[in-house]
Amino acid sequence: MDQTRHGGLWTIEDRCESAWHYLPFEVPAGAIALRVELDYDVSAAVLDLGCFGPAGFRGWSGGARRSFVITVGSATPGYLPGELEPGTWHAVIGLHRIPADGVRYELSAQTSGRPTRLVPDIRTEPVPPLAERPPKRELPTANGMRWLAGDLHAHTVHSDGTMTVAELARFAAGRGLDFLAVTDHNTISHHPELPAAAAVHGISLLPGQELTTGQGHANAFGDIGWVDFREPPDEWLAATEQDGGLLSVNHPYGGQVSWTAPMKRRPPLLEVWHWSWLDPHWTTPLAWWLAWHPAAVAVGGSDWHRPGSDAPPGSPTTWVQSESADPQAVLGDPDRARRPALPCPRRPGQLPGGRGSLPAHRSLRGDSRDHELIRPLTSSTGEL
Ligand SMILES: [Zn+2]
Ligand SMILES: [Zn+2]
Repeated sequence: MDQTRHGGLWTIEDRCESAWHYLPFEVPAGAIALRVELDYDVSAAVLDLGCFGPAGFRGWSGGARRSFVITVGSATPGYLPGELEPGTWHAVIGLHRIPADGVRYELSAQTSGRPTRLVPDIRTEPVPPLAERPPKRELPTANGMRWLAGDLHAHTVHSDGTMTVAELARFAAGRGLDFLAVTDHNTISHHPELPAAAAVHGISLLPGQELTTGQGHANAFGDIGWVDFREPPDEWLAATEQDGGLLSVNHPYGGQVSWTAPMKRRPPLLEVWHWSWLDPHWTTPLAWWLAWHPAAVAVGGSDWHRPGSDAPPGSPTTWVQSESADPQAVLGDPDRARRPALPCPRRPGQLPGGRGSLPAHRSLRGDSRDHELIRPLTSSTGEL
């Protein structure tokens, strides 16, 4: 077994120099498992942890974990299993919160050529589907499509959530949702698990990644591969557009995680209805939306992490009109940028001044001026 050790002090000056720092280690030929462990005083600082191999991104766990294992066939959630290319790898340390007098750290990286020495801790117990599901709200459509109830923001054990993908799929299905975007922070290690969990639990799971930095968070939707969160947000938008995905600025006025990053162009979506805004009398989100770009399509996200925090999936709900629940159909055809769709909260409220229910937009890829209204669900037969 080979081992590399690093240690020292991260300071405010280091943070000012760069948000991310790289600690190298060598992976020898023949290695089939890697374990990296970071030790520091978690009561004094928050350090993020991630990994890059010679060929690029291999995983991210942010501040949620202090160790990870990568093997050829499996990996700690947040990290990508696969061949361990021989050469120089890097553990990435994100200096998220550093105290005034700095924080001491130690990092070790071990590799092994034997199959049982380093094993990731993975929960793989089966999650049976629900025996019963809540009745669906059927809304009329004019063109043979269906209204689908969904949520565009949720987390799992692949970042700082507590549910596995399967557990989240069952929970969201039990909340009556037709689709859910799984948007773990700065990683796509959950993407391979989505199709099987979706099939077992009868819910469409949209691949997503929540790009997460100190300047703000944004969801990249679609089967578009990993987007490099270290690049400026304009690059996030370009990378997402290039591969036919959609970018959404998240919780733009969310306290410490408010959006503060400058952008030359606005992303097509804006998470105006974050779970933290369910009081329809608070007008800041609407003002922010109009100031940001009135043509941005406003969507909703519960930002679900775990029981006891946030709001459950579907609070708020984003309604989308689609020909099917297939993830690509829900997100829309990037070559035909006007598929009818209509996201809106399940609990739309009254706008100040008595202007009626909140406006909801016809297309995730369209213009906010093309919108309709959905009335609140006041009975089991709610109406559009
Ligand atoms: Zn966020
Ligand atoms: Zn989130």
